[in-house]
Amino acid sequence: MPLGGLGEFGMNCMAIRWGNDIVVIDAGLMFPESELLGVDIVVPDITYLLNNRDKVRGIVLTHGHEDHIGGLPWILSELNVPVFGTEFTLALVENKLEEHQLLDQADLREIRAGSRFNLGPFTINPIQVTHSLVDCVALAIHTPIGVVIHTGDFKVDPTPTDNRLFDLHTFAEYGKERSVLALLQDSTNVERRGYTPSERAVRGRFDEIFARAERRIFVTCFSSSIHRIKIAMEMAWEYSRKVVLVGRSMTESTEIAMDLGYLEVPSGTMIHPSQIRDFSPDQVCVLISGTQGEPMSALSRAAVENHKHARIERGDTVVLSSRIIPGTERPTFG
Ligand SMILES: [Zn+2]
Repeated sequence: MPLGGLGEFGMNCMAIRWGNDIVVIDAGLMFPESELLGVDIVVPDITYLLNNRDKVRGIVLTHGHEDHIGGLPWILSELNVPVFGTEFTLALVENKLEEHQLLDQADLREIRAGSRFNLGPFTINPIQVTHSLVDCVALAIHTPIGVVIHTGDFKVDPTPTDNRLFDLHTFAEYGKERSVLALLQDSTNVERRGYTPSERAVRGRFDEIFARAERRIFVTCFSSSIHRIKIAMEMAWEYSRKVVLVGRSMTESTEIAMDLGYLEVPSGTMIHPSQIRDFSPDQVCVLISGTQGEPMSALSRAAVENHKHARIERGDTVVLSSRIIPGTERPTFG
């Protein structure tokens, strides 16, 4: 039962039911088109779940992108069921629930790729996949009549920066089994031919930019793009630049990644935003929120001299290292 995310960008949410038991996969939100003035976010219609609330055993998250976890506060406030996710995904969820004062009553349970767990009549096997952020899983959901494979989002990256490889072997094993009932697979640009380059492929381009930049470098990417953030940080060290985090989402996700060991930062590298002016412009690299040109984001404010610490000046280099989400290109580049 898809509750969102099919034929549209965002708001991924799927319910799988066997008899009197329902497991929900992901709980995403959607960012509205700019025509929907006054609407901040769009969340799935969970009437079906509310009408069957005694049957819902839990929500299992494939990864930490907003279009997979962003709807959780709204869903949990009406239906407080256990939430299962990997370590990194749950760290993002914790921040989000804390913001909505829902963390205390939430029942968060950590899962790991390769460790099966039971939920009602279902046995769920999380399978490591690679994507533009870290700690992502596909789910093999064993039901009493066979297996349903839900891939979550993925890109097959043979050289992820965290060296945690896509578990093709387990997919192949399921492929040999006759009991797989269905493969649920959905990925942006799935209709396009060819391959998506590895996250590491941006390194060469970053290197060119860092070699050429004479003044401050501002790098923006999705705050969840830990692979990109890692590469940008490594470049900064190579070019003897201090790294500064500006903007709440960038700061939060980078700090989580540092806490969980995805980013190892040599001491003395990071500086506080208030110290930007203490260093000459060629010694600073600013990692900043606002890749989609959100009007109140740090990047937009830095661009119009409306940010307390960060200000983009003539000769600075601004690197937008991300795809533009369909529907958001106008505010950014209009
Ligand atoms: Zn994703």
